[in-house]
Amino acid sequence: MNIILLGAPGAGKGTQASMLAEKYGLLHISTGDIFRANIKGGTEIGKLAKSYIDKGLLVPDEVTCRIVKDRLMKDDVKRGYMLDGFPRNVFQAEELDKFAKIDLCVNIDVEERLLMDRICGRRVCACGESYHVSALNGRTTCAKCGGELYRRDDDNPETVKARLETYFGQTAPLIDFYKKQGKLLTVQSGEGSPEEVFKQICAGLAEYVK
Ligand code: ADP
Ligand code: ZN
Repeated sequence: MNIILLGAPGAGKGTQASMLAEKYGLLHISTGDIFRANIKGGTEIGKLAKSYIDKGLLVPDEVTCRIVKDRLMKDDVKRGYMLDGFPRNVFQAEELDKFAKIDLCVNIDVEERLLMDRICGRRVCACGESYHVSALNGRTTCAKCGGELYRRDDDNPETVKARLETYFGQTAPLIDFYKKQGKLLTVQSGEGSPEEVFKQICAGLAEYVK
């Protein structure tokens, strides 16, 4: 099963991805993580990506599509995968249809007013886990691996504002794109827990695999 995780920044795509990876053994492919690894490694792609990421803009389609296409050529994708952060506009979605077979698009729907706080309060670990400060009770390390938690460079109010604009302008139209393809599963993520969202996704997937 190959799925797309769609949702605004702060919707909780990464959190759901790590829960889904555990339950279904799906591979987690995050374009944001790939770019951040490149930035850390000081590669050419990293340098280019950083100039867009810092502004809350999308990295050019040509670069992003190539990265995903290459990643999907590796053998390990055969067990099924989740795309987190890709596609992010209609062009990328159309490209994806040329080199991948997607079964389902899980759209995590969150009220816009909740997003700013969720992102700016987010602390992440190098292992991929993320937390909200309000749930950490002063703890500064990852519950999963003990790593030091930090705030992503682009999780500041100014960049978040731009990222939300990018989302509503370019990414949200994908909801209709996948609805038309009959592949859309929308789940609601309000002020409830990640576990509640996870339950909705699992119920939807169970319907689908029937
Ligand atoms: P979030 O979902 O919280 O915004 P991501 O880690 O998915 O975080 O993405 C961080 C940044 O990486 C984005 O703001 C964008 O600049 C870049 N990026 C990630 N995925 C893509 C993509 N598919 N196309 C273009 N840029 C991307
Ligand atoms: Zn960790």
